[in-house]
Amino acid sequence: MKRVAIVGGGVSGLAAAFALEERRRNGAVLEYVLYESSPHPGGVLRTELIDGCLVEAGPDSFITEKPWAADLCRAVGLGNQLIGSNDAERKTYILVRGRLVVIPDGLMFMVPTKILPTILSPLFSWKTKVRMTCELFQRPRVAEGDESVASLIERHYGAEMVDRLADPLLSGIYGGEATALSVRAVLPRFAEMERTHGSLGRAMLAARKKMSSATGRPAPPIFTSLKNGMQELVRAIISRLPPLSLLTHTPVRAVRPDAGGWAVSAGPRSGHFDAVILAVPTYAAAEMLRSGSAGTSSELEAAPATQLATELAGIQYSSSITIGMGYGREVRQSLPPGFGFLVPRSEGKRMLAATFVHNKFPNRAAPDRAMLRCFIGGVRAEAEWTLSDDQIVGMVRSELQQVLGLRSEPLFARVYRWKAAMAQYGVGHLERLERIEHLRQQLPGLALAGNGYRGIGVPDCIRSGREAAAQVVAN
Ligand SMILES: Cc1cc2nc3c(=O)[nH]c(=O)nc-3n(C[C@H](O)[C@H](O)[C@H](O)COP(=O)(O)OP(=O)(O)OC[C@H]3O[C@@H](n4cnc5c(N)ncnc54)[C@H](O)[C@@H]3O)c2cc1C
Repeated sequence: MKRVAIVGGGVSGLAAAFALEERRRNGAVLEYVLYESSPHPGGVLRTELIDGCLVEAGPDSFITEKPWAADLCRAVGLGNQLIGSNDAERKTYILVRGRLVVIPDGLMFMVPTKILPTILSPLFSWKTKVRMTCELFQRPRVAEGDESVASLIERHYGAEMVDRLADPLLSGIYGGEATALSVRAVLPRFAEMERTHGSLGRAMLAARKKMSSATGRPAPPIFTSLKNGMQELVRAIISRLPPLSLLTHTPVRAVRPDAGGWAVSAGPRSGHFDAVILAVPTYAAAEMLRSGSAGTSSELEAAPATQLATELAGIQYSSSITIGMGYGREVRQSLPPGFGFLVPRSEGKRMLAATFVHNKFPNRAAPDRAMLRCFIGGVRAEAEWTLSDDQIVGMVRSELQQVLGLRSEPLFARVYRWKAAMAQYGVGHLERLERIEHLRQQLPGLALAGNGYRGIGVPDCIRSGREAAAQVVAN
C-alpha cells in the first residue's frame, strides 16, 4: 500500500487528492491524507450568500481557455453548474485623470488588433497611437534573456501603455507590478510572438485568423464560473473524498526524507509516508523543508532539501484585500454598463480594480441588487493591512464616490484579507523553476503543487495538483 501525504487543502491540494482518489477507485493500492492548517479546506476559494448576492471572497471565475478547472468541475458532478461570463455586456473601463474611459474594441489584453477604434479612443495620447501603428512594422527579435513585462511592452508601445493597461491588467491578476513580473513566466506568448513576428499586433491578428478559421464557431465566453459560486467546487471535491483522509486544523510543521519515504510532523497526527505533495505557498513549503532538515543528523542528507528550501523561499508573494458590497436597485440603474474598471497607479488611488458583479455573471445578484467587488493588491494592500474593516470600507466608498459618483450607503460590505496569497513570478522565475526541479529530483517521493510555479490562476493550480499526484504515483 502506497501512502501519500498532501500538505495544503487549497484548490491545488484538493485537485491532487481527487486525482489520487480517482486512481484508488480504479484499483490503485494507495491511501492518502490531506493536511490543512485552517478549519476549512479550499484556501482562497470562499463564497458567501449575503442579502441576495453571491459574494466571492477570492477568485470569482477562471479563464475558459485553460480546460483543467472546467474538467474538474465536470468530474465532480458540477458540469451542469458551469456558467459563462456575460460577454455581450463585456466592457472594461480604465480610470484616466479621474474619468472612466472604455478599453477600445480590438485591444486583446494590451495588444491593439483594430487600428480605428484604438486611434479614436481617448485612452491613449497621440504619441502612443503613432507608436502602435509603427509597432506593426517591427521585425522579429530574439531577446537575450528574461525581462520584465514592462520592459517588453514599453519597447513595443511606450511607457503610457505600461501605465494605463499592462500594469493595471497584471495587478488585477497578480497583485504585482509590470516592472517586476517576468515576461517569460507571465506572458510567454508575447515573448514568442516577438521572436516569430516582431510585431505583437501582427502576431495577434495572425493567431486570431487561424483560430476562427480552425473552429468556425463563435468564441466561448472568456470566463467560466459556477452557478452557486467557486466554493461549490471545494464542497463537491470533499464530498468525493473519504472523510478520514481530510485533516483540518492540522498545520504541518516539518517534512523530511526518512527511511526511503517522508516523515511529516504535525503534532499528534504526524506520520510516515512513501510520498509527500507540498501544495502550499512556496514560502510555507520552504519553512517545512528547513525545519525538517534541522532535524536530520547528516548534513549531506539534508543538503538538497535545504537548497530547495532556499530556492522556494526566493519566490515572492503579494497580499490582497477584496471588498464585496451590495447595493439597492437605484445603484444598479445608475452604474455604467460593463464588467468594471481598472485603476492605473498614476491615478494615486488605493483601489486597483472594481467589478460590477451583477453584470459579469448571471444570478450573482438579485434583480433589485447591485454588487460591487473592489480589489486592493500588492504594495497598496500591505499599506492598508493594519486598517480596520470599517476603515477599509470607508476608504473604498470614498474612492467609489470619486470615480462613480456613488454616494449611497451599501446594504452590506464584507472585507476579505489574503495575506501573501498571490505568487509573483519575478524576472528569472523560469530559471529558478529549473533549479527547483533539479533539486526536487534528488528528493524521491516529493512533489510540488500550487500557484508558486507555472500559473497563478485556478486552472493552472488544478493542473499542478493533478500532475503532482501523477508524479508520486509513478515514482
Ligand atoms: C483575492 C484573489 C482573487 C483571485 N481571483 C482569481 C480569479 O478570479 N481567477 C483565477 O483563476 N484565479 C484567481 N486567483 C488565484 C487563485 O485563486 C489562487 O492562485 C489559487 O486558488 C491558489 O490555490 P492553492 O491551493 O495553490 O493555494 P491556497 O488557496 O493559498 O491554499 C493553500 C492552503 O495551504 C494551507 N496551508 C498553508 N500552510 C500550511 C501548513 N503548514 N500545513 C497545512 N496546511 C497549510 C492554507 O491554509 C491553504 O488552505 C485569485 C487569488 C486571490 C487571492
